[in-house]
Amino acid sequence: MKKDIKSLSFEELNLEITALGLPKFRAKQIFEWLHKYGAHSFDEMTNISKDLRLKLSDIYFISNCQIEQKYVSKMDDTVKYLFRLYDGEYVESVIMKYKYGYTICVSSQVGCKMGCTFCASTLAGFKRNLEAGEIESQLHSAQNDLDIRISNIVLMGIGEPLDNYDNVIKFLYNVNNENGLNISMRNITLSTCGIVPKIYDLMNEELPITLTISLHAPNDVIRSRTMPVNNKWGIDEVIKACKDYIKKTNRRVSFEYTLINNVNDTYECAKELSDRLHGMLCHINLIPVNDVAERGNVKSSEQIMHRFSDVLKNNGINATIRRTLGSDINASCGQLRRKRNEVK
Ligand code: SAH
Repeated sequence: MKKDIKSLSFEELNLEITALGLPKFRAKQIFEWLHKYGAHSFDEMTNISKDLRLKLSDIYFISNCQIEQKYVSKMDDTVKYLFRLYDGEYVESVIMKYKYGYTICVSSQVGCKMGCTFCASTLAGFKRNLEAGEIESQLHSAQNDLDIRISNIVLMGIGEPLDNYDNVIKFLYNVNNENGLNISMRNITLSTCGIVPKIYDLMNEELPITLTISLHAPNDVIRSRTMPVNNKWGIDEVIKACKDYIKKTNRRVSFEYTLINNVNDTYECAKELSDRLHGMLCHINLIPVNDVAERGNVKSSEQIMHRFSDVLKNNGINATIRRTLGSDINASCGQLRRKRNEVK
């Protein structure tokens, strides 16, 4: 079985290359080809001898993401890709254009185990983790295809990043590496449904990324109804972990709160949420629930969303209502799937 060379960290690659009896600068060259230039084959590595390229291709393969489908929004500049992986599995990624540059929303797993009742990504179940190189290849394929440079990453696609912890951490270091894409950790956001022990592990990495928690409810009763993970780690534990995270890293934590009509959008919910988050260095993103045909959740009205936001603000909590991008191509939060999507 060949090994995926793109999923090695810089240090691992250095070790393996020197173990082959090669000088260290070779590892740096190879890392650049893989991570800065997104090379698909060893043949592209023209500053490396043919013999060595052959030798490398005997031992390693290079993971990639092949574009199977591309969907371009007619409403905004959002682009969604369905990528085919080496084993015939699929994941989706979304590219969004903002004033400050391009952001990619990457998937971290093929499918998801978490079972949130409003989300499409969990419908077809969980298949496998993505390797670090496969997460990164989503950037390379999109950058190549669109001829752009991506400046920001959100780990908000399919899957639960903290359920694929080691590969995700390796991905973060690799995209941040100056010999690779050199993307600042400050431009990276990781979203989790609240795997508490892994929030502590992440805290101890002390990375200047932004941590986002998918909260979606002000209490255990409502949260457990929509997010099965809450039965394992309840809302108090999640918020305690966030407080510890803020204390240790000095970084603001964000909360995602999807507003679903008559489920979590009442005045009482807003009040209870404000009380719980009182005094925390945090920000709340309010998102009208996006359509997922199988789910049948109904969006809260504009009026209800503004009332919810006002209650938070009046209680001293930072909140914004998030603009929805790419809804005509099912590219919005919670709409990504690990198979072909029927687009209206
Ligand atoms: N598993 C991680 C990463 C996914 S991020 C997490 O749960 O955080 C995707 C975000 O979209 C999460 O905040 C998720 O809860 C939210 N989401 C899922 N379905 C949605 C929907 N139908 N409408 C709006 N947001 C949704």
